[in-house]
Amino acid sequence: MGNLIEYRCGLIDFQVGRKHGKLNFDPAVYIEQCAKSGMKRVMFTCKDAYGDAYYTSDLVELNPMAGKDYLAIALSRARELGLELYAYFNVFLDDIYADEHPEHRMTDKEGNPVISYDYYKSLCPNSPYADAVHERIAELLFNYEVDGLFLDITYFRGGTCFCEHCKREFHEMYGYGLKNDIVPGTREYADFNEFKRVARARILTDIIRTAREIKDIPVIWNGSGSIYLAEPETDGFSDYLTTEFHAPDYLDGITRAKWMQSRKQDFIMSTPSELGSWGDWTMVPEITLKSVVCSIAAHGGGVYYNHTPYPSGKFAQSYIPPITENIGKAFEYLETFEEHLRHSRSRADTALLFSIESKRFRENGYGSSGFEYFRSFKGAVKMLLSSGVPFDIIDESGLSEKQRYTTIILAGTPYLSPETLLLLDSFIAEGGNLLVVGETAAYDEKGKKLRTMPEFLGAEKIKDSEISVEYIAGIHDSIGKSVPQMPILIKESGLLSDIKTKGSAKVLANKCVPPFEASLERHVYHQHAHPFAMTEYAEVIHNSYGLGQSIFFTADIFRSYHETASPWLNMLFKNCLELINPEPVLRIEAPECVYPTVIENEKGYLIQLVNINGPINEPLKVFPRTMLPVPEVKIITKLAYNNATIVSGDGQTKLLDDSNALNIKNAGVHTAVLLER
Ligand SMILES: [Zn+2]
Repeated sequence: MGNLIEYRCGLIDFQVGRKHGKLNFDPAVYIEQCAKSGMKRVMFTCKDAYGDAYYTSDLVELNPMAGKDYLAIALSRARELGLELYAYFNVFLDDIYADEHPEHRMTDKEGNPVISYDYYKSLCPNSPYADAVHERIAELLFNYEVDGLFLDITYFRGGTCFCEHCKREFHEMYGYGLKNDIVPGTREYADFNEFKRVARARILTDIIRTAREIKDIPVIWNGSGSIYLAEPETDGFSDYLTTEFHAPDYLDGITRAKWMQSRKQDFIMSTPSELGSWGDWTMVPEITLKSVVCSIAAHGGGVYYNHTPYPSGKFAQSYIPPITENIGKAFEYLETFEEHLRHSRSRADTALLFSIESKRFRENGYGSSGFEYFRSFKGAVKMLLSSGVPFDIIDESGLSEKQRYTTIILAGTPYLSPETLLLLDSFIAEGGNLLVVGETAAYDEKGKKLRTMPEFLGAEKIKDSEISVEYIAGIHDSIGKSVPQMPILIKESGLLSDIKTKGSAKVLANKCVPPFEASLERHVYHQHAHPFAMTEYAEVIHNSYGLGQSIFFTADIFRSYHETASPWLNMLFKNCLELINPEPVLRIEAPECVYPTVIENEKGYLIQLVNINGPINEPLKVFPRTMLPVPEVKIITKLAYNNATIVSGDGQTKLLDDSNALNIKNAGVHTAVLLER
């Protein structure tokens, strides 16, 4: 199949409908512009959300506003210019088909047909619509020499589907009827979630089979790399992974990139040409785009730029010059170092566990009310990004490769299976470092509260706390660097517990509480009451276990940090990380807006520094137009190498190792340093 991924790609997301009149678009000119801006591969819309085709078909009507076979023209020009072309096919959305077969539409629990993404009609993959999808894809691939198939919109709308086809299928699978009023936290609800995962896996693997009967080409789908879906039982069938990076949500985009990087498959990420998202029709600034492209490349991924020219009216043309120039500049920069990304894998020795078990546990409606897995998890990502240490995001399957990591971090994981607990237990017993935050393995699979805590934590839960906020006080010197000597507030961290140490575990900080829970009748000043009394309960517990050790924050400081951005919680976390892993494979000394990654390939290591000026600290929404240069970044690494060279941008610059640190002067948006072995 050739190179599975190309690093510079495009997607013409041409879902424009018929309501605005005749289209003014020349696919040959468009493809020329793609080539000019450095793209190597283009995903080309063949069947859109309206249900229109942009190719000649006996099964789908050609959009009459187009009036000609765009795909044939684009393919012919792409061949001349050496560009690859993938067929984009919108799977679950099809307004025209939905109007002809309303009985095949996705249905919500009130029995209403579903509208998705503001305007579009969703079809159900358990209905006979699935047959139509197969026939159409088979026809398209049989008639056109495309280089790959790109599927979009292959998701059940949240809270669906209750159509008659799903109900019949569900009954066959589980032996009882699917009711419209199922409630979270029941077996029926968990079965329903599983049922949808199975149905989605089936239609996608069936499409792959259909496609492969015609052509041996890559088949990929949007969302195969989504951490929100996180369906490895399906995602792994995509020839490579893909999901979206929407500026300026760097936290979300980097989280997704890290998730895909650890899946052992190549990946590419799409980024809209537009401010925020599609339909803004206004482009992102050049520097914002460059920082997004570099954030993806920093994790070894490729980029596809996602865009639609104005299709009709006064401003209609086949491309928009500022947009083409924008992507051209970003891709010109990416090209200078992209060869080092191929066949790479992360060399980070710190990993954050993304617990699919806990995520599904919550989706099934179990656990304490108000807990949101992603808040805790993203708070952890946010802290780690400012720690100066490269890290990976792994799921439970990554724990069995424990020799890769010296340090594993757990963010509020209410449910962990006995197998996962065993893996964690042996990781630490064999010398690993574990940093655990918040509620951990507190329930069984069915949502029943467990009495004991995992042994490696060295902790014992006494009771639920009666107060909704607390303070960290009596902080031990070993974790107190740069933290003011006063009680540090923890709020908005979900359920709090009163926890004591067990065995030889040590307390590194105590719990301090306010005098009472603030109410109308009893309060002090605003919000909640001040720090008032020390307790016998622990906030931070340090436990030696076997050859390894754990640090346990009894309150969910990640979730609190996600909501409050408290610099003191962040410092405490950073100090704890340093205490258990004083010499990571790599760390940088730089302002917090710079984060490092390190990947490894045959030649050596590629260290990348990405500077995002601080907008990672959501909810601040900033589309950077300039990046403040960072005068100096020090890289301290244990990796062995012969030569260090800056390989990104204009020309190559050799770096001298100055007292065991590499000094980068005037780091801009991005710097890539190659360490040759
Ligand atoms: Zn259905």
